[in-house]
Amino acid sequence: MPTSTGVPKPRSHSQYNRYAQCGEAYKLERVEKRPSDPAGWFVQGTAVHSGVEAYERSGRTISRAATIGHYHQAWERELAAGLAVQRDITQWMTGGFKTGTKDLSDRRELGEHQVLDYIDYAEQSGESIWVTPDGKQAIELEFTIRLGKVPVRGVIDQVVQTPYGLTVRDIKTGTKKQPSALQLALYRRAIWDLYRVDITWGDFFTCARKGRSPKNGGPTEPYDLTRISQDWLENQYAAMDAAERNGVYLANPGDHCGTCGVRRHCKAKGN
Ligand code: SF4
Repeated sequence: MPTSTGVPKPRSHSQYNRYAQCGEAYKLERVEKRPSDPAGWFVQGTAVHSGVEAYERSGRTISRAATIGHYHQAWERELAAGLAVQRDITQWMTGGFKTGTKDLSDRRELGEHQVLDYIDYAEQSGESIWVTPDGKQAIELEFTIRLGKVPVRGVIDQVVQTPYGLTVRDIKTGTKKQPSALQLALYRRAIWDLYRVDITWGDFFTCARKGRSPKNGGPTEPYDLTRISQDWLENQYAAMDAAERNGVYLANPGDHCGTCGVRRHCKAKGN
């Protein structure tokens, strides 16, 4: 167990992940509070989650048009939040050669397609949203637990009843393959701590793609989350917490710099 003095700070998977990916980015974003450049993928991601959430919270009873209405509402809200940070859309990150305007317009259309495609999947899948022992639909389920001494917060997109058992699910609107199931293993732990229900499986729902290689959305193969040791996970969060509170921030330049919102403040990039 890492040696640490003082009181652990509340953590989350996104903090842990960002810190592990690049300590410098973590420091710029979360310690120095540098404004992160907006990007269409943030707007799209939040808006798709909002559409899917509204559809599932309704017990899959609202119409497609109403679901898309929720999607567009969230889109406009997130777009306004991005514009409040950077009014000039040409300065928004696109992760490629597209202009900010074209990227936003493509993503608005893609997000709408992803929500409708999700509905198609849900209608045909035979899966349903789990209802927790205290009667909540397991959608955007908030939790605060302790991993060892470290408080950890999060929101679980979904827990789903599948033919092979309960599955924790995270919805991804981008194309990036997830490098590990650590996020899902944390959610498994949260469900155990909250409800004493032991979930074996987890997956990522990869939303539909358009363009040259269109693809319908669907879940990845299920991950057996019992293979990720909960003791090891506790140690990881303890190590991250201790290192961060001791001011350890190692820059880690790599492919992820292309989508880094604080890149223009980054000394590793010569800025
Ligand atoms: S640009 Fe790269 S090295 Fe710099 S903070 Fe961002 S991710 Fe880290």
